[in-house]
Amino acid sequence: MSTDRAEPAPLVLYAGPPEEWDAYAGLIPAACAEAGVPITLVRDAPPEAVDYIVYAPKSDLSDFAPYTNAKAVLSLWAGVEKIVGNESLTQPLTRMSDDGLRLGMIDWVSGHVLRHHLGMDAHILGQDGVWRNDTIPPLARDRRVGVLGLGALGAACAQALARHGFAVSGWSRRAKAVEGVRSAHGDAGLAMVLAQSEILVLLLPLTPDTRHIINAATLAELPKGAIIINPGRGPLIDDDALLAALDAGHIGHATLDVFATEPLPAEHPYWAHPRVTVTPHIASATRPETAAEVIAANILRGERGEPLLYPVDRAAGY
Ligand code: NAP
Repeated sequence: MSTDRAEPAPLVLYAGPPEEWDAYAGLIPAACAEAGVPITLVRDAPPEAVDYIVYAPKSDLSDFAPYTNAKAVLSLWAGVEKIVGNESLTQPLTRMSDDGLRLGMIDWVSGHVLRHHLGMDAHILGQDGVWRNDTIPPLARDRRVGVLGLGALGAACAQALARHGFAVSGWSRRAKAVEGVRSAHGDAGLAMVLAQSEILVLLLPLTPDTRHIINAATLAELPKGAIIINPGRGPLIDDDALLAALDAGHIGHATLDVFATEPLPAEHPYWAHPRVTVTPHIASATRPETAAEVIAANILRGERGEPLLYPVDRAAGY
């Protein structure tokens, strides 16, 4: 009589957005089966029985200590600032990086850069019967765009803008080569990028080092009339300093997708400011179809004892 017993399928706890359970309940097990690692996905289980946790801040889970056998916590979000400092989290943590997030962010950033580059508002808003043909938009190659953060999203957006023809420079923590992009790092690198950014895109993660990186001093380093586009995180910007710079005319416009408080309170001055565009944290989103494949790839890696994709550096905070 054989004593071999099949290993039980890894038990995966879904602690993601409740409203997305229906989508993930089908997609994650299917992607895992396709990857060759059948799993059981549940919304509730004895903590010590859980092998992996699929996590997003929009869940009730905040104490990871009871999950003593969990091999990894797999974030559905790219930004991990809400979990990275959680002291009960001792398991390896990964963040989300998938085609859906990347492609969506390229579209959103490209659209808003082009809006400002072409001065589209002049002809979309306030049509009054007057034929104003005195301003021809410059070519993209004559427009200097800066991108702070050259990670999965920043590098992809910087490259897409460079391919479109913009003169793009970018900034990261460590030295980095991004094809077609003038890359810089460190304090001197930041000053160089700011000084030449007629349009500045923020795609940094929120960490103690990046909080209020856009403040009175750095705003002053931007060319007069510069445009700020922030799909990164709200607290990258000192809001009071930005409002002062907008009111002084030094900053021409701010297109903001993310805020220190979300939803942005109805009484916040950004809503009514004539040179601020508010979008409600929709620049991009984790798409269950593509995110499930990344979750499956990491569970497969975890089961094989291989390094996980997109690990979070807990000390760096992202
Ligand atoms: P990522 O791959 O981790 O890239 C982060 C980039 O920022 C890296 O280039 C990193 O430098 C750089 N960086 C970090 N700290 C820095 C510092 N102190 N100084 C200079 N550069 C620094 O992240 P991602 O996937 O591109 O995502 C970026 C952010 O986008 C997320 O953290 C999230 O906040 C935001 N996001 C927003 C939305 C939305 O819908 N609005 C959607 C998804 C994500 P190194 O290359 O040297 O590591």
